[in-house]
Amino acid sequence: LVSRLPKVGTTIFSVMSALAAEKGAVNLGQGFPDFDCDPALVDAVAAAMRSGLNQYPLMTGVPALRQAIAAKITAMYGRSYDAGSEITITAGATQAILTAILCCVHPGDEAIVIEPAYDSYVPAIELAGGRVVTVQMDISDAGYRVPWDKVAAAVTIKTRLIVVNTPHNPTGTILRPDDLEALADIVRGTDILLLSDEVYEHMVFDGVRHESLSRHPELAQRAFIVSSFGKTYHVTGWKVGYVAAPAALTAEFRKVHQFNVFTVNTPVQHGLAAYMANPAPYLELPAFYQRKRDLFREGLKTTRFKLLPAEGTYFQCVDYSAISGMGENEFAQWLTAEIGVAVIPVSAFYQEPRDSGIVRFCFAKRDETLQAALNKLAAL
Ligand code: PMP
Ligand code: GLN
Repeated sequence: LVSRLPKVGTTIFSVMSALAAEKGAVNLGQGFPDFDCDPALVDAVAAAMRSGLNQYPLMTGVPALRQAIAAKITAMYGRSYDAGSEITITAGATQAILTAILCCVHPGDEAIVIEPAYDSYVPAIELAGGRVVTVQMDISDAGYRVPWDKVAAAVTIKTRLIVVNTPHNPTGTILRPDDLEALADIVRGTDILLLSDEVYEHMVFDGVRHESLSRHPELAQRAFIVSSFGKTYHVTGWKVGYVAAPAALTAEFRKVHQFNVFTVNTPVQHGLAAYMANPAPYLELPAFYQRKRDLFREGLKTTRFKLLPAEGTYFQCVDYSAISGMGENEFAQWLTAEIGVAVIPVSAFYQEPRDSGIVRFCFAKRDETLQAALNKLAAL
C-alpha cells in the first residue's frame, strides 16, 4: 500500500498521553478536562435516549440543535445563519475541518496554514490533494502574532483556502478586529475561502472579546466556521461539533458530509439542544477558566519557566530555556518521565523541524491536579 500520508505517525497527543500513563505522570499534555460535565447535560441526553430518540436524525443534524446554535451565534456575534441551510452538525470539529477541506480544496490547489497549527489541518489538506503553504507566527515577549504581510505574500493564483484558528491552540492568541481587517484586505477581490477553527470561542480572558469571523460580514460570506461542544461543555469524548457557513458553501459541505459520516448520534444532539436553552454554562466559561489559568500561572512564577501570554483557550505556553538546553521533544519526555508532568512540545505544531524551547501545558484540570503538577515543577 502506498501511503496517502507518508509523513504522518501517531499524533503527539496520543504519544504524550501514553507516556504520561506509563510513567504515572500528571497529564497536562493532551487537551481535555479531568473533571466531569454538568450532570444536567447527562440527564438531558439520557432523557432523549429513554424517550426513544435513538434512530438516525436528519443528515444535517437535529433541527432543534441547529436552531439553538443559530440563536447563540446571533446573540453572541450578531450574524444570523439559517438553521435549515447554513448550519450542519458534525462528529466533532475534526470531522468538520476534514469535510470542509475536502469539499473545497481540489488537487493542486494551495491552502495557507499559519504555524504553530493544530495537527489535523495539514493532513486534511494533503488528503484533498492540496499543497500546504505554511506561514509562521512571530514570537516576541508580547506572545505569538500573525504576520499578515507574510500571509499576503504567500497568496498565489492557486490559493483556495486560508485556515485560521482563534482563540489559538497552542498559543492562546486571540485575533483582534485589526487582524480580521488585515485578513479581509488579503482575500478581498479573490475567490479564496476561509476555514475558521473557533472551538475555544468561549475561553477568552481578561475581558478580551472573541472575534468570530461571523462578526465580519465580508469574511463570513466566504467562511466555514467550526466549533465543538467537546470544549464548551467539558465532553471531549462525545465528539459533536458544527459548521456554520453560507448556504452555497453549506450545500457543498453536506455533499461530502453525507458520505463521510452521514449523521451524528441522535440522543446527544437532542440533549445538547435542550441544554443550550440556558446560556449560563458558556457565558460563565471565561471566568471558570480564567481562575484556573491564574492559579496555574501564579504557581509557575516560582519556577524558571518564562510564561508566555495566555489570552484564551485552556493552554499555557512556557519558555524553558533558563532550565534546560534540551530540544523540545527531549525536554517533554524528560519532564514527563523524570519530573512527573506531561506536556506537549510546540514543535509538534510545525511542519519543519524546529526548536524554540517552548512547551504547552493544559490547565483544564481540577485544582488538585494543577496543584500536584505545580508541586512537582516547583524545584525547576
Ligand atoms: N481544533 C482545535 C484547535 C482543537 O484544539 C481541537 C481539539 N483537539 C479540535 C479542533 C478538535 O475538536 P473535536 O474534539 O471536537 O474534534
Ligand atoms: N485538541 C487537543 C489538544 O490540542 C487534543 C486533540 C487530540 O487528542 N487529537 O491537545
